[in-house]
Amino acid sequence: RIVYVNGQYLPESEATISIFDRGFLMADGVYEVTSVLDGKLLDFAGHSVRLARSLKELDIATPCSDEELLAIHRELVTRNEVVDGMIYLQVTRGNPGDRDFAFPGADVKPTLVMFTQSKPGMADSPQAKTGIKVISIEDIRWGRRDIKTVQLLYPSMGKMMAKKAGADDAWMVEDGHVTEGTSNNAYIVKNGRIITRQLSHDILHGITRAAVLRFAAEAQMEVEERPFTIDEAKAADEAFFTSASAFVMPVVEIDEAAIGTGKPGPVATRLREIYLEESRKTAI
Ligand code: PMP
Repeated sequence: RIVYVNGQYLPESEATISIFDRGFLMADGVYEVTSVLDGKLLDFAGHSVRLARSLKELDIATPCSDEELLAIHRELVTRNEVVDGMIYLQVTRGNPGDRDFAFPGADVKPTLVMFTQSKPGMADSPQAKTGIKVISIEDIRWGRRDIKTVQLLYPSMGKMMAKKAGADDAWMVEDGHVTEGTSNNAYIVKNGRIITRQLSHDILHGITRAAVLRFAAEAQMEVEERPFTIDEAKAADEAFFTSASAFVMPVVEIDEAAIGTGKPGPVATRLREIYLEESRKTAI
C-alpha cells in the first residue's frame, strides 16, 4: 500500500512518525474517514468542512488547502487502485521534539497522514440485510464529542464490551438518553417518524447524518431531532445507525430485545437505498 505522510507518497513500510508527535503522546489530533465507491469520494466537501471545524476548535493549523487535500485523496485512490473502500486522514499538532503539556509555537507544523483501506463490495454488506445487534453502555467520554479527535479508547472499549456480549456495537447512554454509537449516529423510528438526537457538543455531527436527514426530508419522511431513551428504542418499530463507512445500518436488537419484527425495517432499508443512490450521484 502507498500511504501519504507530510508531503510524501511512500510504501507503508517506509512511512514514519516521530515518537514525539503529539498525536502519539497526547492523542492531540483529529481525523476523518471518507468512503470511496466506484473509485469516487463520497461527500468530500462535508468531510473537509468538518475537518476545518475540528482543527479550528483545537487551534491546530490547517496542513494544506482543500484543493490539495482533494488531490491527495485522489492520488491515493489511483495509486492503490481503490474501487470501494475508505480513506483515513489524520492531522496532529505535530512534533515539538519533546514532551510538554503546553501547545508548541507556530513553528511546529501539523502532521498530515493519509492511507486507504480497500473494502470490495462494501455497499452490499451482508450485515445490512440481517441488521446488527447493539448493547447499551454508559457514555463516559469527554464533553466535546463534536470535535472528531483521535481519542478513541473508550469507543474501542465499548466495541469490545459489545463483542463480549455477543453483539456488534454499543450505543452510549448519558443522563438516561442515547448519545450515539461507538462510531456512528443513532436513530429510532416510531409510527413512521425518524427520531435522532439533536446536534450539540454531546455527539459527533455526522456527515452521513446530515445527508440522510436531508434525503429523509426530501422524501417527505417526518424527522424529530431530540434525545431518546433505551426503553423508547426497545419499544420502537425500527432502529438504525449511520456512518460514512457503514452508510445506513439497521439495528435489530438492543440489549437482547428484538426491535420491531427483529428484521431490518422499511424506513432504514429505504434510507440506505436513497443514501447510496444519491451519494453515488454526487461522488467526485
Ligand atoms: N459518531 C461517532 C462517535 C463517530 O465516530 C462517527 C464516525 N466517525 C459518527 C458518529 C458518524 O459520522 P460520519 O457519518 O461523519 O461518519
